[in-house]
Amino acid sequence: MTTTYWILWLFFLLTHTARAQDLSVLVLTGGHDFDRPAFFEMMDALPGIRYTEKPHPEAREYFLAKHHGKFDVLVFYDMIQEISPEEKAGFEKLVQKGTGLVFLHHALVSYQEWDFYKNVLGGRYVENGGNPSLQSIYKHDVAVKVHVENNRNGLLEGLEDFKLFDEIYGNVWISAAVDPLLSTPHPQSMPILAWTQQPAKKTRSVYIQPGHGPDAFAHPMYRKLLAQSIFWASGKAMRRRD
Ligand SMILES: [Zn+2]
Repeated sequence: MTTTYWILWLFFLLTHTARAQDLSVLVLTGGHDFDRPAFFEMMDALPGIRYTEKPHPEAREYFLAKHHGKFDVLVFYDMIQEISPEEKAGFEKLVQKGTGLVFLHHALVSYQEWDFYKNVLGGRYVENGGNPSLQSIYKHDVAVKVHVENNRNGLLEGLEDFKLFDEIYGNVWISAAVDPLLSTPHPQSMPILAWTQQPAKKTRSVYIQPGHGPDAFAHPMYRKLLAQSIFWASGKAMRRRD
């Protein structure tokens, strides 16, 4: 055996062990357009995370019991209303069993008729409230000051206040039970921009409102927030790669 052989073997072992320790993430998409190259460039850059994208309707099959436990974290970047009673029951069971959940941007608009989803996410963008005072609003291309809250769960480690050029939502229903991560003084935006919740004993959820376009996807603070949110939701420690 040559030294080169052993060095190559060691290299193989190290790289493959690292892959095995990566978090496995399911990214649910569909129901809303987005800048795919910019979004997946960001996803590819998140350290310690392996992901699989599933668009709807296939994405909803992952709520069923036969798929439970296949992923550490589900990342919702979808905007969908259709769901079967079986898929609803499967998701409710998954939350009871324990899973990591991260909801991004327009996932706040999904499942207007399903209160379990609203409560697990911690908020809802209200569509067709009938009453104009209840209807949520959106505005594109807004310069937003993002303030990092003094959150106690360690998720915000290393994050500092930053500015984004992204879409805002306003007049949104937010649960009183959420623990705020980010806020903004922008008068037309919802005041809390991101939050955490623990909707069941072994399930942690995070919602992040910014995330419409490339400016957010490329921002180092946004990427850091997303990576740390995914790790926090998984309940596992983030691996250091520096
Ligand atoms: Zn948007």
